[in-house]
Amino acid sequence: MTDPRFPVLTQKQISTLKEFGTIITFDKETVLFQVGDSDYDFYVVLDGEINMRDPHDDNRVLATHMINEFTGDSSMLSNRSIPFSAYASQGASVLRIKPEVLKGIISKHSGISDVLLSAFLLRQEVMLKELSGGVKVIGTEKSKETYGLRDFMDKNHIWHSFLNIDESIAAKELLVSFNLNYADLPILISMSGEIYKNPTIAELARLTGVLMEFEDTIYDVLVVGAGPSGLAASVYAASEGLSVVTIDGNAPGGQAGKSTKIENYLGFPTGISGHDLANKAYLQAQKFGCTISIPHKAEKVEYNGEYFTLCASNEKHIKAKSLIAATGANYRRLPVEGIERFEGSGVFYSATGMNASACKNELVGVVGGGNSAGQAALFLADHAAEVHVIIRGDDLGDKMSDYLVQRIYSSPNIIVHKNSNVVQLNGAHHLQYLVLDTNGKTQIIGITNLFTFIGAKPCTEWLHGIVSMDDRGFIHTGVDVMEAAMTTCSIFEQRKPQSLEGSIPGFFAVGDVRKGSVKRVASAVGEGSMAISQVHQYLAELKMSRLEQ
Ligand SMILES: Cc1cc2nc3c(=O)[nH]c(=O)nc-3n(C[C@H](O)[C@H](O)[C@H](O)COP(=O)(O)OP(=O)(O)OC[C@H]3O[C@@H](n4cnc5c(N)ncnc54)[C@H](O)[C@@H]3O)c2cc1C
Repeated sequence: MTDPRFPVLTQKQISTLKEFGTIITFDKETVLFQVGDSDYDFYVVLDGEINMRDPHDDNRVLATHMINEFTGDSSMLSNRSIPFSAYASQGASVLRIKPEVLKGIISKHSGISDVLLSAFLLRQEVMLKELSGGVKVIGTEKSKETYGLRDFMDKNHIWHSFLNIDESIAAKELLVSFNLNYADLPILISMSGEIYKNPTIAELARLTGVLMEFEDTIYDVLVVGAGPSGLAASVYAASEGLSVVTIDGNAPGGQAGKSTKIENYLGFPTGISGHDLANKAYLQAQKFGCTISIPHKAEKVEYNGEYFTLCASNEKHIKAKSLIAATGANYRRLPVEGIERFEGSGVFYSATGMNASACKNELVGVVGGGNSAGQAALFLADHAAEVHVIIRGDDLGDKMSDYLVQRIYSSPNIIVHKNSNVVQLNGAHHLQYLVLDTNGKTQIIGITNLFTFIGAKPCTEWLHGIVSMDDRGFIHTGVDVMEAAMTTCSIFEQRKPQSLEGSIPGFFAVGDVRKGSVKRVASAVGEGSMAISQVHQYLAELKMSRLEQ
């Protein structure tokens, strides 16, 4: 059986591709691209072979592309840097296609796109899950800063490896060989070998190409937030020919990306992890030409009657004729003194594979009684010694789906604490134990990792005073927008806001951030897709009103 990562193109597909590229023959072994390159070409082997090598491992050959096979991975659709080097063998003949041209082919030729994207996704999956390498992080398991870097790479699907200085001799040797010391930790070594001492997330994002440079133009639509609703809006906007840019303050996938297994999303009978769903949607949006840049946190937005100007972190100002707010919601902090000190070093707002390995044989706490808490508890129970689920009320089934409640009660290492509150967190640097109050009685539990999933609040700080919202900060749309809150303009003199439109024409809100939304992946995806038809209507009106002036 052939390896699905290395499919063979048909002669018909190669003939189509030949219209877009150039054929080159090499008289000696030649480097086609090198590890760390962010703008590299796509190659189809017509004769001879191309070897993919890992320069950080004595140029070990990782894969050999034979006749009618092709190079590339999912970073070809973004600006991310390539983690390997490629060498054409002596006498090899290849078809070379520029990355920008390849993106055009992928969005227009579905047969070719299917073969390429399936292979790209599989190659990325194998690389992330099975190969060690990529960006190196040297630090300690319990450091907040190290956790921040690893968490960002994990959520953004950046190939990396972690060298724990407390355990790894190789990490200690690297420190000595680069003349560095413990005060410089965490240290990051990029794929092309540059060293960064205690880098910021922005530096990391820039060097891996997740943070992108993009044109300073007026886009048709700007999507703020790359959770399910924002990614759905991005896919539909880009596939329907609108110029679209999407930003997120953290990572694609939003809350769904934190879900270890989504079991109620249509079409996935055995469930899908939020991580995988987010990765596929991220690639799908890029396939149609959407630019996605991370991390940019929206800070302020202005509207001048013609277009929106958004100010975001990392010095980004983006202009767009329409704007979709898809910033969802975040979990609230537990009201426990000094909790900020432990965030990233014992207190977490999501439970990912990375957290799971840190919880091995430890006592873990999960606060909250919703489905997200239930999923996290079950996932962590496979790794931790004990999982303590902590709820304020006395009925786990109050807010949690029955299937999760049943599974929790039948798990031998999950303990449910009802009528309970965490009242104290303790530890020198990392959480070491907590104090739990149950009906007025306190007890100390040696919980070292606490996951909290309580009371989601909408991420709308960047919109205060700009659009109409309810008193909890959820955005009003459609019939919820009061007459008095509507921006005075010719469009709202002719009609009322569309169902997903807010108090400014051309401003839309989708998913969990919208007042009255259902707070599910499927509804968020539905709203994101639906918003684009309303954007089309608005853009047509905008065009008309300009013609009339
Ligand atoms: C652990 C967990 C498990 C879940 N399981 C399920 C399930 O099994 N089934 C189900 O249907 N639903 C589930 N949900 C709910 C579901 O994930 C949400 O309803 C859905 O993700 C909402 O999508 P959204 O795009 O509206 O918002 P979000 O998913 O919240 O995404 C918002 C995005 O906006 C970004 N953002 C926020 N503020 C800014 C800013 N100022 N600037 C730029 N970007 C910003 C965030 O980083 C985030 O990526 C779960 C939720 C959680 C937390």
